[in-house]
Amino acid sequence: MNHSNLNKKVYIHTFGCQMNVHDSEKIAGIFSSCGYEQTENIKDADVIIINTCSIRQKAEQKFYSELGRLKGLKYKTPHLKIAVAGCIAQQKGNALFERFPYVDFIFGPNNIDSVQNWIEADRQKTNNPPIPPLSKGSKGGFRTTALDDNPEYHTKHLPLKREGKGRAWVSIMYGCDNFCSYCVVPYTRGREKSRPVSDIINEIKDISKNGFKEITLLGQNVNSYGKGLSEKIDFPGLLKAIHAIYGIERIRFVTSHPKDFSEKLIETARDLPKICEHIHLPIQAGSDKILSLMNRDYPYVKYKEKVEMLRHAIPEIAITTDIIVGFPGETDEDFQCTMNALKEIEFDGIFAFKYSKRPNTAAINLSGHINEKTKSERLSKVLDLQAEITYRKNTEFKGKTLEVLVEGVSKTDKNKLTGRTRSNKIVNFYGDENHTGTLIMVKILEAKQHSLYGEII
Ligand code: SF4
Repeated sequence: MNHSNLNKKVYIHTFGCQMNVHDSEKIAGIFSSCGYEQTENIKDADVIIINTCSIRQKAEQKFYSELGRLKGLKYKTPHLKIAVAGCIAQQKGNALFERFPYVDFIFGPNNIDSVQNWIEADRQKTNNPPIPPLSKGSKGGFRTTALDDNPEYHTKHLPLKREGKGRAWVSIMYGCDNFCSYCVVPYTRGREKSRPVSDIINEIKDISKNGFKEITLLGQNVNSYGKGLSEKIDFPGLLKAIHAIYGIERIRFVTSHPKDFSEKLIETARDLPKICEHIHLPIQAGSDKILSLMNRDYPYVKYKEKVEMLRHAIPEIAITTDIIVGFPGETDEDFQCTMNALKEIEFDGIFAFKYSKRPNTAAINLSGHINEKTKSERLSKVLDLQAEITYRKNTEFKGKTLEVLVEGVSKTDKNKLTGRTRSNKIVNFYGDENHTGTLIMVKILEAKQHSLYGEII
């Protein structure tokens, strides 16, 4: 630990997906190893990190508002350092300095290891005057970026400060090669790279030693794990190796691309008891025309076949998905195909969004962009339909006794604990906080729209 950083505090605000949440655990781990304490109070912070998401316009706007609000704090607290991380950092780079001259450091998702050097450089500056406001076009004196290709990033060992109790996230690969026409990820996180098996196994052994019961393997397209590695291994092979690790009792993985979701993987999930009965399999749309414009590489019928195969092999499987409404060229008929898909497949839950234009992506140049009003109406219809399905599915759990991994005190009701079933349903119940991180049995008494309510037995 670097004692000269003792009493210094870092505040981290994370936008976006689980991948970003996990990246923030790595950022927190580096700060912690350098002697910083993490704070929930932004006004106490010596360093503020905003880990950004650019998957949708809305997330980007929220970030700009947040960063705008930090201007006053920065000039009132001259020693305060502000860093921007994540996908917007990677995309906008130096342009962020122009718009927000009080930002000190900009680093991309593949350069999290550079945080250590930044902290060290800052520590060594004995005479570090506050940053003067920049004139437009100036690059600024102390500002720095870490945005270059970092080809070895996927093999680096970074300290981690894990957020969850009982469950932990493990990156198995970085980047994506799929170039879905609406998605920025290949431009912000780069090409797909798998982490070496031994690194993943060692990390999970450590997680197990630290008492975690559940792991979630993370990657943009976990089903294509292994490409480019010197050892010959695929995702089912990796699952088997992880399954053998003592102490881990539940294994999950996200995200699966339907085109790479194989029969072999379904059989592996069926045969390995630690793999949880939940798959997130983004469909995005029900119309073949739209799926093709999205560059998703599967027609609806193929998607449905995989769902049927999965349900045949693992009848109790819960399947969730992502939906985009209002993609360019989506007619009423195309939209109806998505509604039909929801009725036909009956997902356990969905994440639905309105299409929004993202920089560099192919979909920007498509014809037939849909107006906001239509997109909003379609989104409401999708959400209303799914709400009925989700609630109906939740009611099927009434009276059943399910294994729950306790995550801690519920954020919405401090008197209750919250946890998840193997099928990833949220369950709330009364109980002692000491149960956090353990597996317990809960009898389901009531189904709600987004969760279940039960009692410990
Ligand atoms: S699979 Fe498609 S949606 Fe997912 S990260 Fe890759 S490009 Fe984006």
